Order: sequence, then structure tokens, then C-alpha cells
Amino acid sequence: MDKLTPPAAGFALPAAGGAYALTVDLSAALPLRLGRRPPVVLPAGRYVYCGSAYGPGGLRARVGRHLRRGKPVRWHVDRLTAAGRVVEVLVRPDGDECGLFAALAACPGAVVPLPGFGSSDCRRCPAHLLRLPPDFSVGNGTAGQAYMAGEVAAAGHREGNIAAS
Ligand SMILES: [Zn+2]
Repeated sequence: MDKLTPPAAGFALPAAGGAYALTVDLSAALPLRLGRRPPVVLPAGRYVYCGSAYGPGGLRARVGRHLRRGKPVRWHVDRLTAAGRVVEVLVRPDGDECGLFAALAACPGAVVPLPGFGSSDCRRCPAHLLRLPPDFSVGNGTAGQAYMAGEVAAAGHREGNIAAS
């Protein structure tokens, strides 16, 4: 894994809106049911989820929510972060999730494991979740600022979950 941006003193994610990506490691297969579709299983491995945050608190609030344990399941990705471990966070202020997804989907080895995951409101993308090789890092050439999730947690989102890998 490439070295990610070290956080500066007083580091905090931007409260501005933008797009983000989460690298999530699943250590065991995760059975899932999306809506009324037949059950599926996400195999163990490394996943990247793309989202956007333009509500109150912007990227800081949304990513902070994703890093918390024990939150109510609201989105598809909540199932993934509850079962797995968030290891990296990438933020792209003012970015859009579909552009970020397209950039990550072009990375070697990227596949869409589950069409429709995270993209119920999107007409452009097959999903907002990718499966990637285990050594993939969002810090490796993707536009935006990437951090170890543990650094983000240590900087003020210390509500659980996260350990640097
Ligand atoms: Zn999209």
C-alpha cells in the first residue's frame, strides 16, 4: 500500500460538501439482501464504496457517521461497515460520487460485485461499490486526499470501529 497523506496538526476532515470513498475490508463473507431481490453474498475481500455528502456538516459529518459502530442501518453501505472494517478514507471536496466511482472502476482489478449496491438514486453507475485486489489503496493515484481511517478516527471521530491497518 502506498503511503497516504499524513494529517497535519489539527487535522479534521472538511465540513464542506464533496465526494468520498471508503476502503472496507471484509474478513468473512457477508450475506446481504437488497430490497426485494434474492439474497446474495459478498465474498471476503477489499471493497471501496463511493458516496457524496452535501448535507449539514458535509464530508466531516458523513464520514464520521460511517466510522461509528452501532449506528442504525440506513444505507446499503451501513451493512458493509457494520460487518467489515473501514481502513481508508478518501475525500474529494466539491466532487461527485459518480466521477469518483468512474475513476476507481478504471483501476486494475476493479469489479462491480453487486449491481445496484449504493446506487439506488443513480442512473449513471452500475453500483457505487467496487471490489478490488487486497493490496489496493485509494491513496494510489486517485484524485483527492486519502487517509488511513485510524488517523481520521484519532483526529476526532473516535467513536469506535477503526484501527489503522
Ligand atoms: Zn453514480
